[in-house]
Amino acid sequence: LITVVGSVNRDFVLTVEDLPHPGETVLARRFVEGVGGKGANQAVAAARLGSRVRLVARVGADAAAILDALTAEGVDVEAVLPDERTTTGIAAVVVDDAGENTIVVNPGANAELGVQDLPARLVRSPGEIVLVQNEIAPEVVAAAVLRARDQGGFVVLNPAPARPAGPEVLAAVDVLVPNRGELASLLGTEPPATVDEARELLVRAALPCRAVVVTLGADGAVLKEAHSTDTMHIPAPVVDAVDTVGAGDTFCGALADALGRGTDLPAAVERAVRAASYTTTGLGAQTSMPYAAQLDAPAVT
Ligand code: ADP
Repeated sequence: LITVVGSVNRDFVLTVEDLPHPGETVLARRFVEGVGGKGANQAVAAARLGSRVRLVARVGADAAAILDALTAEGVDVEAVLPDERTTTGIAAVVVDDAGENTIVVNPGANAELGVQDLPARLVRSPGEIVLVQNEIAPEVVAAAVLRARDQGGFVVLNPAPARPAGPEVLAAVDVLVPNRGELASLLGTEPPATVDEARELLVRAALPCRAVVVTLGADGAVLKEAHSTDTMHIPAPVVDAVDTVGAGDTFCGALADALGRGTDLPAAVERAVRAASYTTTGLGAQTSMPYAAQLDAPAVT
């Protein structure tokens, strides 16, 4: 079982020729509504690859269709709590022809998820994966990470969106998965522009987690384990990337899926890179996430 603690959003995805400038109105070419939020996306990514997944989250009173959609994906939503006082989180996503995007999020019910909503038993058997992101309150992230560690779980933290994390939280993390901007923000540096810069940054950085995997867009990912001074670069397949929305979430869900099957970390990162790259070939977050059969197909090299 993989337990995901995180956010659920209604995603409104609009495609445009060029992103609007301040004061400008542009017409969308296409509009898609779907389930999003980093928590829900990562849960669905892992479920599509075959893992048993439960999601811990809060949604608004308006979320019946979302809960149905998540259930249809095979995600256990028993711990997704409807909150009558508020509405489900909303993300307005605008994507241009070059695949560039801007996103505005209204947290809504996600901001109401509290420490008291976390299941007492976050980890039911030793080594179980608990996957957490930063789209919920910092104290909930901290409590989930520390509880998961205390219960013998394997903690994966995706520090997105970027915000400071205490050393005691990072020390309880087995695998930290930032993108280049989030890594830079955690370390107070500039984002690494190249694979080599990412490697150097990870070697110099004193992050107390057991491993760090930084995602680098079309450059794939770099892995650094605390016990080694080496880094490993896992390149991404060359794909026709039309929309990178959901790539990072697919990466984290696929990583958790692979680790949950006992795959070693380098091989799990390799699978996560392939899954995330697949997602960039289609519009929207969940719509383009791969199923296990698609990842294993020879067409994705
Ligand atoms: P985020 O979307 O969270 O910023 P990244 O941009 O680093 O994260 O992308 C996460 C993963 O998605 C990468 O490690 C890679 O596997 C895949 N990916 C993203 N953009 C591309 C691209 N243009 N071509 C191929 N793979 C990509």
